Amino acid sequence: MNALQATLDKARADLNAHIIRIGLRMRYSDLEDAIRKHCIQLPRTAQMMLHPKPIDFVFTPKCRTALERPLEFGFRAEDPLKTMAPMLVKRWNIDVKKKLTRYMRRHLRRIPAGVDPLNLAVAVFTCAHCTDVSRDCRGSIPARARIMRYPEVLCHQCLPLEHGNLPNAEDDLYTRIVTRPNFIKDNYERNEEQDPLSWRCVPFDTGRLENGPVAVANIERMRRVVSALGLDGARATTDELKACGGWLRCTLCEPGGPEEPVKRVYDWVAAFDHENVHFGNSIESGAERNGMWQRVDQPELLATVQELEPAARKALLSDRRPYWCCSLCNYESSIRYIKTHLKD
Ligand SMILES: [Zn+2]
Ligand SMILES: [Zn+2]
Ligand SMILES: [Zn+2]
Repeated sequence: MNALQATLDKARADLNAHIIRIGLRMRYSDLEDAIRKHCIQLPRTAQMMLHPKPIDFVFTPKCRTALERPLEFGFRAEDPLKTMAPMLVKRWNIDVKKKLTRYMRRHLRRIPAGVDPLNLAVAVFTCAHCTDVSRDCRGSIPARARIMRYPEVLCHQCLPLEHGNLPNAEDDLYTRIVTRPNFIKDNYERNEEQDPLSWRCVPFDTGRLENGPVAVANIERMRRVVSALGLDGARATTDELKACGGWLRCTLCEPGGPEEPVKRVYDWVAAFDHENVHFGNSIESGAERNGMWQRVDQPELLATVQELEPAARKALLSDRRPYWCCSLCNYESSIRYIKTHLKD
């Protein structure tokens, strides 16, 4: 084979890869639309947004065949991806729930009979990537995002990403294209799939959750908060925790009995996060840590909290980090633009 032939072969392969990527991109978007149409009805709720992404199905054989189907032009009565979407979503929901239940059973100390472990107030998931102490950017993760429960864990940003570059056992053109995070974006350059990459999109997998002592320590941290609020740490459900509305005092910052005046009170989300201030990443437990929370119930204090709550809620609205979705249409943006959108 001479040099000219080699150049021609390379050009042909590149062109072929380019055409394959264009086809995949169209089918992938079709699948995304089909999933969204099936899962989201207006007015949409936060719960509806916890749907699977096309990447969750790209390696299931039937779906892959449909995605790789060559492009055809002209009228088609039925799009196979659209027909498949409801079943794919249904199976995915069952499958992820099973995997997350298995994870939680491994980490909970004891689960009373007849209780769904995913509904327990102490059932918090820990992301291995977010809690990786070797990462410098750890502090940049918003505190409130660190309590992960079912079903919100399904949309945690780290879980559909995997560190590391191909090639590996499944390295083929299809995999190299569909796992690139910008695969359906306009900034994808021609034959970009030939370049190395440090992050890949992958189907949802509990393997990227933290396993072992750190995961158990976070569940115990939640258990301390739940128990201090007066709930049963082994049985209380998430709904009971959300409904209990109690406030806690940190006895390490402000020692003194439950009847003493207190400057700062914590709800369960803030309390879970506040442990970091005293114990950092340490997972050791001890008497000091076990007794750090105390419920405050003085009527005058609760009245003050109630008085301050509207202002605190309003302050949340000026937080630029959250992403907002209009419930009446497909509009999604930051608080600044969503405010204008809602006025229109
Ligand atoms: Zn994470
Ligand atoms: Zn404190
Ligand atoms: Zn809207």
